[in-house]
Amino acid sequence: MDCLFCKIINQEIPASIVYQDDKVIAFNDINPQAPFHALVIPRKHIPTLNDIADEDRELVGHMLQVAGKIAQEQGFASDGYRTVFNCNTHGGQTVYHIHLHLLGGKPMGWPPYQDQLKTPV
Ligand code: AMP
Ligand code: ZN
Repeated sequence: MDCLFCKIINQEIPASIVYQDDKVIAFNDINPQAPFHALVIPRKHIPTLNDIADEDRELVGHMLQVAGKIAQEQGFASDGYRTVFNCNTHGGQTVYHIHLHLLGGKPMGWPPYQDQLKTPV
């Protein structure tokens, strides 16, 4: 499978792993957008959020729980942090293997865009 994150899971490409178990792994983002920026990914290849099946519900919940545990380990759980799933082009997804961004260590801006908003919400 020609997927960057499957290659990280299969140890064909190196990554700085911060957490792993039988269902997910988490590693530092190569281009961090905060003092701490990791990606939590399932070992199962799921291309986008649109592809999550009923059988994946527990897995996706586990990804979120793992993000919270990493935040606690890193010491910024009580200050707070940002978790993000980007989906497809408008969401800014560039790697088509679902991944939960975990960003912490500084206050995060909101909204997450500057001038791209085309329609009122
Ligand atoms: P997204 O734009 O939501 O698809 O996020 C993809 C993320 O993967 C980006 O934040 C990239 O910096 C990150 N990324 C790309 N290649 C690698 C890599 N080899 N190791 C770690 N993170 C990566
Ligand atoms: Zn994959």
